[in-house]
Amino acid sequence: MNFPVKQEESMENVLKHIESCKVLGHFQQVAYSVHGIALTQICFDCEEVRTNLGL
Ligand SMILES: [Zn+2]
Repeated sequence: MNFPVKQEESMENVLKHIESCKVLGHFQQVAYSVHGIALTQICFDCEEVRTNLGL
């Protein structure tokens, strides 16, 4: 697997993606970063990684 990483502006934006993927029944995993407030979502149905972690 080599999914593209999409930079999100805020944790709220990542949360919105998590919710909309959930509604669609997508298989996803989410990681919370202890280095600052950041969420990283991996959606295996969208085949995309979304994070607000500063890269
Ligand atoms: Zn998805």
